[in-house]
Amino acid sequence: MLLSVIVPCYNEEENIRYFYDELNKNANFFKEKALDIEIIYVDDGSKDGTVREIKALNETDNRVKLVSFSRNFGKEAAIYAGFEKSKGDYAVVMDADLQDPPALLPEMFEYIEQGYDSVATRRVNRKGEPPIRSFLARKFYKIMNKISKTDIVDGARDYRLMTRQVVNAILSMGEYNRFSKGIYGWVGYKTKWLEFENVERAKGETKWSFWGLFLYSIEGIIAFSTAPLAIASFLGVLFCVLAFVLIIFILIRSIFWEDPTSGWQSLVCIISLISGVQLLCLGILGQYLSKTYLEVKNRPKYLVKEEL
Ligand code: UDP
Ligand code: MG
Repeated sequence: MLLSVIVPCYNEEENIRYFYDELNKNANFFKEKALDIEIIYVDDGSKDGTVREIKALNETDNRVKLVSFSRNFGKEAAIYAGFEKSKGDYAVVMDADLQDPPALLPEMFEYIEQGYDSVATRRVNRKGEPPIRSFLARKFYKIMNKISKTDIVDGARDYRLMTRQVVNAILSMGEYNRFSKGIYGWVGYKTKWLEFENVERAKGETKWSFWGLFLYSIEGIIAFSTAPLAIASFLGVLFCVLAFVLIIFILIRSIFWEDPTSGWQSLVCIISLISGVQLLCLGILGQYLSKTYLEVKNRPKYLVKEEL
C-alpha cells in the first residue's frame, strides 16, 4: 500500500526539511502498517530557496517528489497538482508549516481501516490568531452554511486523509475556481472528523492577508451558493412594490392637495438609494459572470516548470 503525502509550499524554505523530519517520526507506524510513502512537495512558485531544499531532499531520498509551478497559482491549484501526481492508494494533504500535526496520522489511518473513506480534521480553537479574524471567520461559516446546500465545516483544515476513490472524485471536479472546503463537502463519502488544538506555524509567516482571506470567502460563496442572485432578484421585486405604492401615494396627493414641487429632497434620496441597489445587484451578477468567464476560458489550473 502506498500513501501519498501532498505538501503545498509557498516560500517555505525553512520548513521543508523540518516537515520531512517530523513526518518521518511516524516511520515505525508506516512500517508496522506496511505503508510505503511518497512525499509530493508542490512548490507554488516560491521566490526563496524552497525548490533547492526539496531537491536536496530528493537526492538523498527518492520518495521525495517535486512539482514546481511557473508562478504562484495558489494553494488550491497546488493541492490539485499534488492529487494529479499522486499514485497512492491513500492520499493526505498537509501544510508545510506543521500546522497539521503529522502525529495525528496513525489515528487518522485507524479510521480509514475501520471503513471511513476520508478522515478530516478541524481545529477547535483559533489560538494565536487576531480576534477580528476569528470573529469574521466564524460569521463566514455561519452565513455560508445558511446559503449553501454543501456542508462547510467551521475550522476545517485541508489536512485530510482519503482513499483513492475520494481522490479520484475530487480530481473529476475540474473547476478553475477551486474552494476545497466546498469541494470536499460536495463529493460526500463517509467522513470522520477529528478535532485538534490549533498549532502555530513552525517558521515563516502566514500567506494570508486580511484582504486575501476576504476575497477567498467571496470566492467560496460564489462557487457554492447562488443565494446572492436570489437576494438581488428579491431586492428588485421589493423596490418595484415600493415604487408602485409611492406612485399611488403621489397621484392621490397631487389630485387632492396639489403640491407639485414639494418632496424633491426625498426624491433625491430615493433615486440615490435605488441606483445604489441597482449597482449592487449588477455587481453580484458581475461576480458570477466573471467566474463563469474564467471557467469557460478553460485555462490550465497551473503550469509546471519542473518535476522530479
Ligand atoms: N500555500 C501555497 N500557495 C499559496 C499560499 C500558501 O501553496 O499561495 C501553502 C503554504 O506554503 C502552506 C499552506 O499553503 O503550506 C498554508 O498556508 P499558510 O500557513 O500561509 O495558511 P494558514 O495556515 O495561515 O491558513
Ligand atoms: Mg499555516
